[in-house]
Amino acid sequence: MPKSKDTDSRKLLRRLKAVMAEEAQGQERLDRIVDLVADSMRTDVCSIYLNRDADTLELCATRGLNADAVHVTRMRLGEGLVGRVARRRVSINTANAPATRGFRYMPETGEEVFSAFLGVPVQRLGERLGVLVVQSREAREYSEDEVYALEVVAMVLAEMTELGAFVGEGEALRPRHAQQVLLRGVTGQEGSAEGVVHLHDPRVVITNPVSDDPEGELVRLREAVDALRLSVDKMLTQASGDREQTEVIEAFRMFAYSRSWLRRMEDDIDAGLTAEAAVEKEQTAARARMRDADPYLRDRLADLDDLSNRLLRMLTGQGRDSVALPDNAVLVARNIGPGELLEYGRKLRGVVLEEGSVGSHAAVVARAWAIPLVLQAEGITTEALSGDPILVDGDQGVVHLRPDDMVTAAFREKLAMQEQAQQRYASIRDTECVTADGHRIEMMMNAGLIADLPSLAGSGAEGVGLFRTELQFLTRNTVPKRGQLVEIYKRVLDAARGLPVTFRTLDIGSDKVLPYMKPTEEPNPALGWRAIRVGLDRPGVMRMQLQALLRAADGRPSRIMFPFIAQMEEFLEARDLLVRQVEREAALGHAVPSDLKIGAMLETPSLAFAPGRFFEAADFISIGGNDLKQFFFAADRENERVRKRYDTLNVSFLSLIAQIVARCEAAGTPVSFCGEDAGRPVEALCFAAMGLRCLSMRPASIGPVKHILLRSNLAEVRDVIEASREAGEQSARPAIMEYLRSR
Ligand code: PEP
Ligand code: MG
Repeated sequence: MPKSKDTDSRKLLRRLKAVMAEEAQGQERLDRIVDLVADSMRTDVCSIYLNRDADTLELCATRGLNADAVHVTRMRLGEGLVGRVARRRVSINTANAPATRGFRYMPETGEEVFSAFLGVPVQRLGERLGVLVVQSREAREYSEDEVYALEVVAMVLAEMTELGAFVGEGEALRPRHAQQVLLRGVTGQEGSAEGVVHLHDPRVVITNPVSDDPEGELVRLREAVDALRLSVDKMLTQASGDREQTEVIEAFRMFAYSRSWLRRMEDDIDAGLTAEAAVEKEQTAARARMRDADPYLRDRLADLDDLSNRLLRMLTGQGRDSVALPDNAVLVARNIGPGELLEYGRKLRGVVLEEGSVGSHAAVVARAWAIPLVLQAEGITTEALSGDPILVDGDQGVVHLRPDDMVTAAFREKLAMQEQAQQRYASIRDTECVTADGHRIEMMMNAGLIADLPSLAGSGAEGVGLFRTELQFLTRNTVPKRGQLVEIYKRVLDAARGLPVTFRTLDIGSDKVLPYMKPTEEPNPALGWRAIRVGLDRPGVMRMQLQALLRAADGRPSRIMFPFIAQMEEFLEARDLLVRQVEREAALGHAVPSDLKIGAMLETPSLAFAPGRFFEAADFISIGGNDLKQFFFAADRENERVRKRYDTLNVSFLSLIAQIVARCEAAGTPVSFCGEDAGRPVEALCFAAMGLRCLSMRPASIGPVKHILLRSNLAEVRDVIEASREAGEQSARPAIMEYLRSR
């Protein structure tokens, strides 16, 4: 931008800074700012609209429009030109406002006489805060320099808003991050928690957006960028030899060395911003573009976002480690990978994510730990500050941020009731699970970490029905070595003290992408090259894993199953591979398992219709209900839109379960169910009524499921389900709930 404009812009920013430093009420400051901007830009009107709530903007100060309209004129997001600027997060610059699409006439403002309109969003890292507008009588478009200058002012306004410079009377001027907020998301893991927010990425606070010394700021920026580049170069050297990682870091490096990115930030500093404000201004612009970008561009913009965060932390000295993890921390993040979550460990009271999906591995980790998890809580990362009190209701998928006393009291009451229930469950922990009509149901737990194993004793589980082996692969940067896996599996078996543990071989693909595996672009990953398909096509890793499992058993009994078998041949092939490994181990002089049981996971409807020979060949079968249900209903388990559309108690699905049980019984093959639904009491009851005698679930579910089973009569439940079917009902749920209520 030309130097003459720089001086204007700097002068204006210096005055803004002075306004910020003055002892004044928020309203006075806003009034001063609209005057300053209107004078500096020589426009007839300058107005500031601030967000009253997530959907409404309010005119908070104006020079040039009717003063009576202040705190009276309001518009919804998307309404009128101002509302459109806010919704689309992009500036609108027009010489003829009334003729521009979206214009809405607000009679109380008297704005009909102004033809030219320039509105720019006041936003901070994706959070909408308001809109800054200038208008003129003269029908002209504002120049590029003027648009830029107003955007710089908007950036400073955003920082001032964040710092509480405009706090005053009225909704739109209320203090930020001080109100009680209720956020609705999606259940990732049931349970409730009270604690304080710990932001995974703390908000960087910029206390000085306006600089007095542009030259000094340029030096600061360049030094920080140099340091950033060095750190990315170092990442690249460390990754050398790993082609896939190198490719990813190369792309990242390209941004770090981008001339245009640096130039834009230098321009921002020229205009009067400090180095950190310049970084944040460009980051905010990139975030706004990210929303409408295609997936490829979004990934690139995410790289830029990551680099900007690193730069900001360097410039401000505010980092992830600057806030210690409190004892009662509820982790709040945009999204988090399983590796990062594992680093926090079980200390967390709860987790709330702005994004995330139920089937993701971070969710699997939270579930394994029985930590309440709420996903897709939109706005949480911008609303919450580290240290804020927070209540997480994982059952309802609701989060109360900065709750008032009434909400907290009600919540604590609920916690106390849950605590009582836990005590009830503890009293039946060692009771054998036999239903009221005499059916013995085996209660197993799912696991995926060594850290899960203490739950065996705590929950009263009779063994591990599903040990997901992916997590050890997902949380490393390279394929784990056989020796490392032997150690891990050994520790699992040792911790189980003779109780059975069923290991599932590596189930990757779909959402579970290994960091060191070249991502294959598949149109439909859930239906793609995953699990046993990868294992059979590239048997190297599976062979190594099988050897590790056999060695870990060290002569003890061993149970191994293969995931995602869709037809008999896949199972036979996988089993042959395992048998060959047993022979090899024996030939090498290693102890082989005293009793090896080889099973298949039934996760696709096709396998329910496999030849009878399959059911005879498998030593045991485990129904992977999460996948089976998604393929039965053709409804993506990770897509919140369709995931809950089909009820597990749909009579067709229950028929499928009954049919699988019948085929296993006919072949004399034990069958269990290990999907998430096994841990839901009503669902588990219906599965048992369909003939399942072994259920594997999260440890925390064993108490509630056993509690309902102990008091149930399975024959009666089956009759209720059959009656629903005969009555032509789609789901047995209403009848089952009615039956349970009546008892
Ligand atoms: C399942 O699909 O039900 C299952 C247990 O496996 P995962 O959830 O790991 O796919
Ligand atoms: Mg599965």
